[in-house]
Amino acid sequence: MSQTLQAVRGMNDILPDEAEFWETFEEIVRSWLKSYGYRPIRLPIVEPTPLFKRAIGEVTDIVEKEMYSFIDSLNGEALTLRPEGTAGCVRAAIQHSLVAQQPRRLYYTGPMFRHERPQKGRYRQFHQVGVEALGFAGPDIDAEMILMGARLWADLGLDGIELQLNSLGQPDERAQHRAALVSYFEEHADILDEDARRRLYTNPLRILDSKNPTLQAMCAGAPKLIDHLGTDSLNHFEGVQRVLRDAGIPFTINPRLVRGLDYYNLTVFEWVTDRLGAQGTVCAGGRFDGLVGQLGGKATPACGFAMGVERLVALIRESGGEPAAPAPDVYVVHQGDDATRLAFRVAEGLRNNGIDVLLHCGGGSFKAQMKKADASGATFAVVIGDDEAATGEAQLKVLREEGVEQRKLKVDELADAIIGQLIDSDEEE
Ligand code: ATP
Ligand code: MG
Repeated sequence: MSQTLQAVRGMNDILPDEAEFWETFEEIVRSWLKSYGYRPIRLPIVEPTPLFKRAIGEVTDIVEKEMYSFIDSLNGEALTLRPEGTAGCVRAAIQHSLVAQQPRRLYYTGPMFRHERPQKGRYRQFHQVGVEALGFAGPDIDAEMILMGARLWADLGLDGIELQLNSLGQPDERAQHRAALVSYFEEHADILDEDARRRLYTNPLRILDSKNPTLQAMCAGAPKLIDHLGTDSLNHFEGVQRVLRDAGIPFTINPRLVRGLDYYNLTVFEWVTDRLGAQGTVCAGGRFDGLVGQLGGKATPACGFAMGVERLVALIRESGGEPAAPAPDVYVVHQGDDATRLAFRVAEGLRNNGIDVLLHCGGGSFKAQMKKADASGATFAVVIGDDEAATGEAQLKVLREEGVEQRKLKVDELADAIIGQLIDSDEEE
């Protein structure tokens, strides 16, 4: 016997019940994006490896250890399954001169790939909805992106998602802060542990995350990035906060929020829930004014965010959200050659009228077919036997409602009768 094959670890099948839930989610997301003027862009899943190295940064976790990279065996090209969408989106915008004339509001959805340790809320193939505004310099677009998030949580019936905000300033301000940090740590060299000494010149920011209590006390007094921000950066940050306060959106300024990708500057933000365990960030983003230039385009300010679909879907379920069980309007039951031919005609005719129809396939007794009709959740069964076929008629039966007689109707009258009754029952609700 041959061995059964399994999906790659950390890469999930999304089965019909779940996939329908996703489709409902995606419909809400699409209409939300449209209401803010965002337009779709569809991008390749595979990109040249150097794109991610240049965009995300050589010394980030993603590039150092999470990318699915390979050499195209046919032409030797270095390729990577995209670990995120911003790099490809910016690459496409440059390649097709999308931002030459006007700013753009763009979004994409789809799978991303990162070689991480799979666990709840963290997968190797996961899905993002990514939103990018290219060509906008002011804090207004940053703020609007945050307002968008708040509206989506409301549209999805979610609460308790908290906003964390920070400003990373500009690269020169970060360099000054880093220098100040290094000299501060040098002054306290006597209490640095081995780890901290190793990081002192390679990545002093990481010392701030130390779990060593002696170091933590010392770190509390370390220079803060916010004190190295110039007037422009501070004004930008204040501009974002003003819109949020006006809109009544609560937020916490988290000086530790730095993001794992090198391309961010000024505003960064994350939306976090405590209901998903350790993987609580459902949406993250910020400004990346340097990226278009860094990838060879004309310097263009930009801002964006991405949300994790698996985490949001899990949160909707966690909050008790259930998808409306998708059911056909009509299940067509039929037996006998003439009846089957008429059943096909009836089913297509009903669909022409916008009615969702499941035509029974696979034969079986009337009784067995009626069981399937009940199980389908359909509102009506249309039943056609050879007697009905002979007179061009069908029985219309209301399912899951006791005491309602079934009616015999001419097949041409079915659509009107069904639509009429569907409207009536909608009004009663
Ligand atoms: P994390 O800190 O959770 O690793 P990140 O900072 O690496 O997240 P981003 O690159 O900003 O994540 O991606 C945006 C969003 O995509 C995250 O907030 C999260 O919701 C989702 N996401 C990221 N990595 C994964 C993954 N491996 N599995 C599922 N969702 C993910
Ligand atoms: Mg990560």
